[in-house]
Amino acid sequence: MAQVPMPALQALRVRTVRVPMQHPHQTASGIVSESPLVLTDAVFDDGTVGHSVVFTYTPAALKPTADLIRNFEGLVKGDRLAPAETEQKLARRFRLLGTQGLVGIALSAIDMALWDALARRHATSLIRLLGGVEKPIPAYGAIGYDGVEGSARVAEDWAKRGFTGVKAKIGYPTVQEDVAVIRAIRSAAGGSMSIMVDYNQCLTPVEAVQRLRVLDDEDLTWVEEPTLAHDYAGHAMIAREAKTPIQCGENWWGSLDMQHAIDAQASDYVMPDVMKIGGVTGWLRSAALAQTRGIRLSNHLWPETARS
Ligand code: MN
Repeated sequence: MAQVPMPALQALRVRTVRVPMQHPHQTASGIVSESPLVLTDAVFDDGTVGHSVVFTYTPAALKPTADLIRNFEGLVKGDRLAPAETEQKLARRFRLLGTQGLVGIALSAIDMALWDALARRHATSLIRLLGGVEKPIPAYGAIGYDGVEGSARVAEDWAKRGFTGVKAKIGYPTVQEDVAVIRAIRSAAGGSMSIMVDYNQCLTPVEAVQRLRVLDDEDLTWVEEPTLAHDYAGHAMIAREAKTPIQCGENWWGSLDMQHAIDAQASDYVMPDVMKIGGVTGWLRSAALAQTRGIRLSNHLWPETARS
């Protein structure tokens, strides 16, 4: 069968935006009050345009990330639309510099825009392009580092909106305060609400084991990033000592980080972030890795990428 040549990439159009958050998000490591986003359009010579969005956490990283994507244009201009091929080429190109940090986010932004273009080129959605179908998936509502009353109030709102799970930022000065927040959420949201908690890496491994001994009685669905994200040995010790499942993954750079964490038994569940794990290409590799090891996976930040 004769193959029609795929269109060639003409340009990457990059814009930055700062979207104010309706409800500023408190975390144990600071307050997030706006979404700094980099929007990338991959423009092809047949008129196809693929879009992506990445989140830089701080406005200070907005321009550098956008500049990186713009500077990478010369490396991919003229490429035929084939995201996996382009990913391989760029991976080789960046062996010396590395693909972590903003470089990794910039490469993911390009990868996601290319996959979006491929789906559009085939007049379909990404999920259908990948062989799946749109369907409802379980979702949870987020609760910030909002104290006992604040957390309970937000949990009640999520319950009213029909959510069956919530995830709360904790890491208060004492474990008793963590427990007070969890119990306030449970009584506000009802006994059937799944409750997850996130320490955002704020404990040492020993502190985490001590706190988990107390939290193990609170029937939590998971405890997220109790210690530094790349301390796999520390997480493994915590996971061994705790009954409650440990959840990690949002800070893994690429599927090889995920493989190292899995090899270390650092986490009972995994939650890669599409813009840190290597875009859609990296996401697919990571999902395959989790599937092979029989580990339950959820996604971080980007519900658009979720497949159940
Ligand atoms: Mn988290």
